[in-house]
Amino acid sequence: MFTKAPRGTKDITPAEVYKWHYVESKIHQVCDVFGYKEIRVPVFEHTELYERGVGDTSDVVQKEMYTFEDKGGRSITLRPEGTAGVVRAYLENNLYAEAAPAKLYYNLSCYRYEKPQAGRLREFHQFGIEAFGSASPQMDAEIISLAKVFFETLKFDNLGIFINSVGCPKCRPAYHEKLIEYFTDYKDKLCSTCLSRLDKNPMRIIDCKNPVCKEIGHKAPMIIDEQCEECNEHFDNVKSLMDAMGISYGIDPTIVRGLDYYTTTVFEIKSDNMVIAGGGRYNHLVEELGGPSIPGIGFGLGLERLIMALESRNLFPQKPSGADLYISSIGDNAAIYAQKLAFELRKEGIRCEKDLVGRSVKAQMKYADKIGARFVIVLGDDEINSGSAKLKNMETGEQTDVTLNDLSSQLKNYL
Ligand SMILES: [Zn+2]
Ligand SMILES: [Zn+2]
Repeated sequence: MFTKAPRGTKDITPAEVYKWHYVESKIHQVCDVFGYKEIRVPVFEHTELYERGVGDTSDVVQKEMYTFEDKGGRSITLRPEGTAGVVRAYLENNLYAEAAPAKLYYNLSCYRYEKPQAGRLREFHQFGIEAFGSASPQMDAEIISLAKVFFETLKFDNLGIFINSVGCPKCRPAYHEKLIEYFTDYKDKLCSTCLSRLDKNPMRIIDCKNPVCKEIGHKAPMIIDEQCEECNEHFDNVKSLMDAMGISYGIDPTIVRGLDYYTTTVFEIKSDNMVIAGGGRYNHLVEELGGPSIPGIGFGLGLERLIMALESRNLFPQKPSGADLYISSIGDNAAIYAQKLAFELRKEGIRCEKDLVGRSVKAQMKYADKIGARFVIVLGDDEINSGSAKLKNMETGEQTDVTLNDLSSQLKNYL
């Protein structure tokens, strides 16, 4: 039976996978330069991990998780984000016993039951950075600088870096009280989601997308004016370090991020006013998940949205050619010779193709053109007997004599 893919999923076809390879290669390249090591974690975890790690008042946990009971009766959830699983793996593999900080990155698929829209799928892909074991503002500055370099490597311009501080468990309770007091006066105007947030997580009201809530939220007391001396000092140090690196940034007191676990620094990166990455510090998450008291900081971004942003800005390099060389053959003898030649050349790392479906020479040439082969040679009995053939440059039409037993070294001159 032929069925369609579930709503909110998308195939990545061979025609577009080069874009993913391109972005992924930049991820590996930039993380390597900054000394971050890749970590790979399971697609599913015990549900409790996300309830505790993402925060059970968050939309993600309340509405969007793919949770099911497995055949052993355990409650299992497909990962809705990367951080919680990485923290779990960091603890389980005793990575905290190694020299701090642990600088990690991941590139993985995530699952959220959301209304699908452009750049937002139910199965999506997230690239993220996590660093554990440093409470220093220098760690914050490094993470933000990595994000900046990543986007610059992809040739984004009009980048905006916006930072904020969301306080700590010492100063946040008093701020929450103040916020609850402020928002209570607008109880009859707030949307229903915000009303339900009012007692548990009033800071989330500040980043509600509802225009009425937004207007009320923007006039609310802001945490950077209310946070404790320690948080202020941390924030000032982050700013000085950004200045020292010559990285310009704005301060946006309305950035609170979607998840409950952030402490002190939070940040967002925008391109042409669209948020393309966000993150922040979470000094108590590791402890919350049953580990020692170890500070952490990270950021994440959705690859679907990133790829859309790159497409709309024409920032992808040209699609790679389908082959360096197409070996066209006339007759059975030549087909066997072409098979052997292709094998030899491929062992040398030359990307070559030959006929596999019995096309006529004319149809083979058409096919070579269609796949974007850069060079073509045509082999018949004459060429095989004389050991030489004409190498045709498909772009210029130029033809060169080549010897068949030395083809790979001659080709390498042109490629
Ligand atoms: Zn504080
Ligand atoms: Zn609202």
